[in-house]
Amino acid sequence: MSGYERGRLLSKFADLVDQHTEELAALDGADAGKLLLVGKVIDVPSATQMLRYYAGAADKIHGEVLRVSGKYQGYSLREPVGVAGVIIPWNFPTMMFFLKVSPALAAGCTVVVKPAEQTPLSALYYAHLAKLAGVPDGVINVVPGFGHTAGAAITSHMDVDTVAFTGSTEVGRLIMESAARSNLKPVSLELGGKSPLIIFDDADVDMAVNLSRLAIFFNKGEICAAGSRVYVQEGIYDEFVKKAVEAAQNWKVGDPFDVTTNMGPQVDKEQFEKVLKYIEHGKSEGATLLTGGKPAAAKGYYIEPTIFVDVTEDMKIAQEEIFGPVMALMKFKTVDEVIEKANCTRYGLVAGIVTKSLDVANRVSRAVRAGTVWVNCYFVFDPDAPFGGFKMSGFGQDQGLGAMDKFLQVKSVITALPDSPW
Ligand code: ADP
Repeated sequence: MSGYERGRLLSKFADLVDQHTEELAALDGADAGKLLLVGKVIDVPSATQMLRYYAGAADKIHGEVLRVSGKYQGYSLREPVGVAGVIIPWNFPTMMFFLKVSPALAAGCTVVVKPAEQTPLSALYYAHLAKLAGVPDGVINVVPGFGHTAGAAITSHMDVDTVAFTGSTEVGRLIMESAARSNLKPVSLELGGKSPLIIFDDADVDMAVNLSRLAIFFNKGEICAAGSRVYVQEGIYDEFVKKAVEAAQNWKVGDPFDVTTNMGPQVDKEQFEKVLKYIEHGKSEGATLLTGGKPAAAKGYYIEPTIFVDVTEDMKIAQEEIFGPVMALMKFKTVDEVIEKANCTRYGLVAGIVTKSLDVANRVSRAVRAGTVWVNCYFVFDPDAPFGGFKMSGFGQDQGLGAMDKFLQVKSVITALPDSPW
């Protein structure tokens, strides 16, 4: 199929997804405890924006003219790699599906998608809508199942040509091993994070408090890019802490289908218990629990928005990804000090900076080892902005035109000119 035709099909697919926004947001809400309203205004619309971005790119995949020495001409082709395995997590079932599937299809690959075992429903619905849009059979395949069975079958398969994965660092390592042991398929891994949000003295405190609340409590903290380490400069620290506690207490936990709710339940019992265990670690390691710290309801996997202060960099809650609504708040004095602290984990996914000083923003943006830096904002994702990790947050780009590269392979074609010796 030509790039133009692929683009048209993807646009049609996007239109159909838009028409089913309500049901799709409800499926993710039922599966993962995500807010219905957020699904309708953020998850599904961002997914179709992604799909349309790559629909527009499908007929603009170019090779290069090569400067080959001697009497030859050379050009490169960028060809689809073939069958792409896509393994995604449960926290953003819709966005993750389109983050990977859109560039893969635009590039001309077919996909075998394994949604997370907790959240298979919307992916199955997307396969159905793709069929209605006219996507040929066999192009989008959805194989729900567990990681160690369905997931491992994809990563070890000799006929799967690449794997695009988002999930934990631990599983990312297994995927790379399995790819290496089978057909050496390339993998791209978007893994965990323990991202710093750095707030300087010159910040508007109310704005910074709201941003920090969003950064850790949005989607119940179940987000790889969560701003889970909040560094606040000493001049505004006391005021910030007081307001952050009030803001956390005003973040309403409850039924994700109620439009007044800010935060639903954790996805399942395992995550619920894992988060509570980290809260216990925080307490036993000597951090001070200022608010939250326990289940928010007698029934269901609800956890109160939680804030720890007196956190030091060596504590588990400052180093490990909790994937829950737990903020570790820390005080700092100087720019140099906070740069060093911001970079002190094995992760490097994103970083946030709040300051009115352009010099500080520029300096810190360059010094932090993170794949995305948000200045005076947070969670601003855009199809055109490359997203991916440094360090143990993974490698391989999502978003942006470069995301198609992982689904393409480059071929050089060199042709002898008529007067070439051979
Ligand atoms: P999370 O911590 O977000 O649950 P995981 O990394 O455990 O993330 O899971 C992300 C995805 O990886 C899920 O679809 C899961 O089923 C899959 N997965 C888990 N283990 C494996 C494995 N050994 N091989 C392939 N996929 C796996």
